[in-house]
Amino acid sequence: MSNSASKNLTRRNFLGNTAGLATAGIALTSFGMPLQAATPIVGSQVSQIYRRKLGSYEITVLGDGYVDLPHAIWANPGAEKLDEYLEKAYLPGGSIRNGVNAYLINTGEKLILVDSGAAGLFGPNAGLFPGNLSDLGLKPEDIDKILITHVHPDHIAGLMTSEGGVAIPNGQVHLEGIELDYWTSSSAQSKAVDISKPWFDLARGWQNAYDGRISTFNGETDLGDGITAFPLPGHSPGHTGFRVESQGESLLIIGDAVISAAIQFANPEAGAIWDTSAEDSIRSRKTLFDMAAEDRTLITATHIPFPSFGYVDRRADGSYAYVPEEWRYGS
Ligand SMILES: [Zn+2]
Repeated sequence: MSNSASKNLTRRNFLGNTAGLATAGIALTSFGMPLQAATPIVGSQVSQIYRRKLGSYEITVLGDGYVDLPHAIWANPGAEKLDEYLEKAYLPGGSIRNGVNAYLINTGEKLILVDSGAAGLFGPNAGLFPGNLSDLGLKPEDIDKILITHVHPDHIAGLMTSEGGVAIPNGQVHLEGIELDYWTSSSAQSKAVDISKPWFDLARGWQNAYDGRISTFNGETDLGDGITAFPLPGHSPGHTGFRVESQGESLLIIGDAVISAAIQFANPEAGAIWDTSAEDSIRSRKTLFDMAAEDRTLITATHIPFPSFGYVDRRADGSYAYVPEEWRYGS
């Protein structure tokens, strides 16, 4: 390389004039750099884990992956209207990509699991909960207590091994009595929509596996450890939220009171075909939104986009808006 060529090798023309270099007889590989990226495209995220302090507690969201839900699962509104909401949220139409979460509440003394993900039941993109637990350096036996929002597959299947055994070996499981009664009832199964009929079989297998470890409560109940269960019926008969409180801070874990942030804040009357009571579901959602908006309480829901913490704004026209909490550097 001549002196003048080397003087001209500024950063700008190095990046912008590789053709000139080639003309000068300099192969890029002579700089020790490959001509093309050899690192494979991975096509997935790193572990979906997010920690957030709440008073002296630490809440950890463990993403379980996602499932694509077709518009046919919505009883209301129709596909065209759904696509309008998705367009407003800058999302592709035709179906809705739903994340799934489980939660760990570390009180400093106990490790409490809320729901458990879908295991292998929601296809190849879900079932990440056990791997994420392991990535946290935790083992299933470290969990002291289990709370269940409702008995749908994406909330209880992660409590089972693929052979139908117990995946979380210690601690009591707490859920609403109405919920357990419903999902273990054969008459309720016969009246249910087709898509949810197999969920009753899963519920019975789960009940058998955890026999002797299941405690039921009814209605609003203090479960200890700063956690209060409160009814949010409609998505299922005993669908439950949990209020977690520590040192004056509160979080509402609202399960599936919202299954799509893009749809149900703008239109709280939207609901799924498997909601056991559309009327109750709408009432629960609106009451919850009003309470969270009024009190400016932090919420999180299983299917709200990861990391799934945010607030509810009430609009003058009676609709609501979801305000995702900004990523908390630190925790
Ligand atoms: Zn769910």
